[in-house]
Amino acid sequence: MIRVFPRRTKWTPTDELAFVGDPPLFIPPEMPVRISCTFTWDREEAFRLQRSWSRIYSDVQVGGPAFDDSGGEFVPGRFIKDGVTITSRGCPFSCPWCFVPAREGDIRELPIIPGHIIQDNNLLACSKEHVAAVFKMLEGQKAAVFSGGLDSKLLTPYHVKLLKSIKVKEMWFSCDTKDALYPLEIVANKLHDFKQNQKRCYCLIGFDGEGPEQAEKRLSRVFDLGFLPFAQLYRPLDSEKPKHNSRVWRDLARKWSRPAIYKSRHAIRP
Ligand code: SF4
Repeated sequence: MIRVFPRRTKWTPTDELAFVGDPPLFIPPEMPVRISCTFTWDREEAFRLQRSWSRIYSDVQVGGPAFDDSGGEFVPGRFIKDGVTITSRGCPFSCPWCFVPAREGDIRELPIIPGHIIQDNNLLACSKEHVAAVFKMLEGQKAAVFSGGLDSKLLTPYHVKLLKSIKVKEMWFSCDTKDALYPLEIVANKLHDFKQNQKRCYCLIGFDGEGPEQAEKRLSRVFDLGFLPFAQLYRPLDSEKPKHNSRVWRDLARKWSRPAIYKSRHAIRP
């Protein structure tokens, strides 16, 4: 199957049947074409690509998360590059800035396909048996990257023991509001044995009336707790542009999404 993507991201597959944009000069023989659209603001481009690829191929369909595709079975390497795995979909929570609950519904566990980059929305919301099976799978993998996110509220001593039982490259948490600092402080205590480079933290900024100063205070606190923050400017669910686009916000997001910049201005933990 040919897979087509409106834009390249770090997760885009790179095999010979994966394409970004229009058909190239030399094309594969007739086969189904699936256009995978992740971002709502790329929907128009996805339909344009459908017209473009339909000039050559007879079965060209558009889908993906941007079309509220709830995500069925996970096929490794198909719409996301090799090494990435998704062992569950959905989430039991409904944070107001997040598209996951509306798109994928409540948490549901999938068969576990090997991979060292875990892209589940909320792995720790899965059953104890499922989480244990995922860590068993990770024992035979390269150093794990929990890029989908580990939920601070759900991290237990049992999970910490599992994390210590495997090689971990990165664990991503999140701290999207001031209230999220408290559970992160507890996580900081539980994971004090891990290095700061292993502990990453997505930080939504500018949501619900938050100002730049409040956001920076939170980002500094996340850093001081031993995590490397990654600032993400809030953008409404169907918008390509962040809600705040002033210089102040852009500079803040730039600074706090590049560890090389903010590390040089703060003391580094071992
Ligand atoms: S916990 Fe994470 S995945 Fe679940 S709704 Fe909130 S932000 Fe989305």
